[in-house]
Amino acid sequence: MNLPKSISNLYWSFKDRKLIEDVYRDSDCHFIYLPRDTKKIFIDVYIKAGALLEDERQAGIGHVLEHYISALVHKELPDDVKFGAKINDDYIVFYLESEADTTLVHAFNTLFEVLTRPDFSQKEVFDYEKRSIMSELGEEKNDIERRLERLVERTRYVDEPNGRSFVDHLPKMKELSLENIATYHKKILTKEHITIFVSAVKSHPSVLSAVTDKLDILNVSKGVPDFPRPTYSDFSIVIDEDPNLSGSYLVMTFPSLNRTASLKDEVILDLLIEIMKDPEHKGARQEMREQGIYDITVVQHEGAHNGYLAMRSYVSNDQIVAWIQIVASLMRILKESGPSQSLFERIKGEWIGDMTTHWRTNSGRFALLSDRILNQGNVPGYKKEIEEIAASATVNDVREMAKKIFEREKVNLILFGENTGLSREEIAKAMVF
Ligand SMILES: [Zn+2]
Repeated sequence: MNLPKSISNLYWSFKDRKLIEDVYRDSDCHFIYLPRDTKKIFIDVYIKAGALLEDERQAGIGHVLEHYISALVHKELPDDVKFGAKINDDYIVFYLESEADTTLVHAFNTLFEVLTRPDFSQKEVFDYEKRSIMSELGEEKNDIERRLERLVERTRYVDEPNGRSFVDHLPKMKELSLENIATYHKKILTKEHITIFVSAVKSHPSVLSAVTDKLDILNVSKGVPDFPRPTYSDFSIVIDEDPNLSGSYLVMTFPSLNRTASLKDEVILDLLIEIMKDPEHKGARQEMREQGIYDITVVQHEGAHNGYLAMRSYVSNDQIVAWIQIVASLMRILKESGPSQSLFERIKGEWIGDMTTHWRTNSGRFALLSDRILNQGNVPGYKKEIEEIAASATVNDVREMAKKIFEREKVNLILFGENTGLSREEIAKAMVF
């Protein structure tokens, strides 16, 4: 078959960023090649059907569908092909990898066949997979990290599936029938919901044909999906008590940039985060150590629309107020004067060094590119462009970013652990921005 010229070009011309953009805008092209430096060939099928699209009555249904289809595909696949699946807020993803073209083509055909026309009569498989999800969720209950994540989600996605407790999924999931799954499958498996990525370091015409042939069956879309935006609760304090913990996890979260943010804003935010992580910053870390607080982490999460920024520690009851005050004062300093020039220059140099190393790893580059293409509809800037932005960034840029993000009305504080005896008023009073 004759391939669209743009696709075959792209395959060999990854170095030319413009080509990727052209292909992406080309309405005839429905999938994208992203080369990776390895002998393997990868096919990633993204279906827009994550937790964020589930209403309360069907909580967890995407997860069940993901397990069910995976189980059916697994039965059909030979051992020499690697197959996996996952679900997150935004997507169900099925991925295949193999070193041999023929194996991969066969596996892809199988996956596609099952995906588009699953046999919804396998009651035993269905019951087994439902049980395995329940045990997965049961394990989550004992997983402190996961519980913290859920609490953070609750402050971000108010009235959205991720704002509900995962325990709520269980009774709903028990009631789900194969008919429910079949109806849901029919609803989500449309061309607008699918994006396919093929990646390899050199051309594999048979893999290419296998994928393009499928375009006739299902016109795979290149569209950017639309997800609900997180509705941040304003200045909320979430308290979750767990008598089994001696001490408390404290997490202060802020809504950060959304995925349509400019490349410059993203770079500046990254620099701001590195500055917050740095132990030398204006003595804030020193002050924490004096209070006996050693564990402090800064996390940035990119969500479907808005991400969040969080600072987290594990503290004892009598350190809680001090922690809130010190973190709030760090935010205040960053907003008022920004980091010192010398600290900023050092962080910038380190950041550019790290970025260059990261860019060299192909899986990192694939993650960056595919994520951007899926969620933003464009490709991230080239290494050189990012490097130039970082090199010309100033202390003032960081200060402006801090002003944008650290607003008291947008702060959410999570307190998770033993009973602290502190009232919400006492906590709120300590947060002076
Ligand atoms: Zn699962």
